[in-house]
Amino acid sequence: KGRIEITDFSLRYDGANGPMDAVSDVSLTVEPGEFVSIIGPSGCGKSTLLNALAGFLKPTSGVVRVDGKPIEGPSADRGMIFQQYSLFPWKTVRQNVEFGLKMKGMEASERKRAARTLLGLAGLLPFENHYPDKLSGGMKQRVGIVRALATGPRILLLDEPFGALDAQTRLIMQQILTNMWQRLKISVLFVTHDIDEAIFLSDRIYVMTARPGTIKAEIAVPLPRP
Ligand code: ADP
Ligand code: ADP
Repeated sequence: KGRIEITDFSLRYDGANGPMDAVSDVSLTVEPGEFVSIIGPSGCGKSTLLNALAGFLKPTSGVVRVDGKPIEGPSADRGMIFQQYSLFPWKTVRQNVEFGLKMKGMEASERKRAARTLLGLAGLLPFENHYPDKLSGGMKQRVGIVRALATGPRILLLDEPFGALDAQTRLIMQQILTNMWQRLKISVLFVTHDIDEAIFLSDRIYVMTARPGTIKAEIAVPLPRP
């Protein structure tokens, strides 16, 4: 479970100056449990591709399949993390993490237990009752990852999640993400424009050309993991 297959994917926006091809003829796969990155210059369509995978955008042509089935929109089987943290400021850290579980109708005590297990994995238990505005950027992003994982998605999609963080915090976040990925055996598709980050984290990297983005190269990374 957790296989992604994108076939002949193109997406054209209706821009102010007429139609604009953002992504052109992209095909790629992510195997269950694999960590795959997409790198490419700014504006090449990485976010567009990821948003389509999340189900927020429809391709102009081509198909996005998850476990063999064409996707039909957003779904809890695909968690998404953006560069900008999107936590509820009026909820505590744990309430933020519990939100998706509440939506699924999980009972309060069970919800709390599930949230605390994941918060522990991310080193966030001491902060479970804090409000997001009391946390640093790295901590907020850490909560965001835990929240996206709370409902047990098989796939995690990340769009430049650490782009706004300083170098040291970024390293810590990379370790935490690697750790969660290994423990939870999820498939990860990670978008970055940082080749070092992609090499550090990934099993495999797709390199995109400038807009309209298409796959130019595919690199397997035979490095030991941190
Ligand atoms: P990246 O994530 O690689 O920086 P994006 O997917 O954000 O690239 O954008 C690809 C191209 O599509 C860019 O030229 C961008 O300006 C354009 N674009 C993105 N979103 C929209 C939109 N909603 N409407 C029109 N053009 C868009
Ligand atoms: P990124 O490079 O991470 O995609 P951007 O700054 O390019 O971020 O885009 C931020 C937001 O603005 C995205 O939601 C994108 O869809 C939207 N956007 C980008 N370019 C355009 C555009 N030319 N027209 C309309 N919306 C756009």
